[in-house]
Amino acid sequence: METVRIFGIPVAKMNKRETVEYLTRAVEQKKPHHVVTINPIMIMAALEHPAHMAVMKRAELVIPDGAGVVWAAGYVGNPVKERVPGIEVMGELLAVAEQRGWRVYLVGAAPEVIAAAVERMRAVHPKLQIVGYRDGYFGEAEDEAVVEDIRRAAPDLLFVGRSAATQEPWIDKYKERLSVPVMMGVGGSFDVWSG
Ligand code: UDP
Repeated sequence: METVRIFGIPVAKMNKRETVEYLTRAVEQKKPHHVVTINPIMIMAALEHPAHMAVMKRAELVIPDGAGVVWAAGYVGNPVKERVPGIEVMGELLAVAEQRGWRVYLVGAAPEVIAAAVERMRAVHPKLQIVGYRDGYFGEAEDEAVVEDIRRAAPDLLFVGRSAATQEPWIDKYKERLSVPVMMGVGGSFDVWSG
């Protein structure tokens, strides 16, 4: 996969359609991918926190979400094709999931927000298999139970919508155990889905 390095973080040069196709293959091949949709705020945070930078560099796929990332790639003379918003990639993956019978698990946002987001997803995608969901307000003490519940549900797609500073290190820490083909940080996307 072609990438452009922005402060050493390899950002994929695929457009949105190619990104969805790539992740569709990841699901079919059952190969775990931590997908980061990166924006300039996340890059700034990573520059200040080496542990966070390491997470960005270890992710299997980093996609250019923010307009600033698209600008930076052009600035270093290695442009990406287009901005690839994470929320749109999630939306398209949900449609593919419905068609192909993939299992989906959602973690993040406040309890009433994630419940409303699930309701709306089920209205838009009646055959979508949402095999589990929970809010994003839990601490390390609960990680074990959350990880076990996800493992038991065996999803193909796992969307984690907590703050960027939380969701990416969390996915990184547990990705081997979770071993879900697509594990993607989606920030505030559940708030948007909840209506
Ligand atoms: N969120 C969460 N758990 C937390 C903090 C935030 O689930 O511990 C959710 C929050 O409800 C929202 C999303 O993460 O749905 C993004 O939150 P916010 O905009 O505060 O984070 P930022 O993107 O600014 O880091």
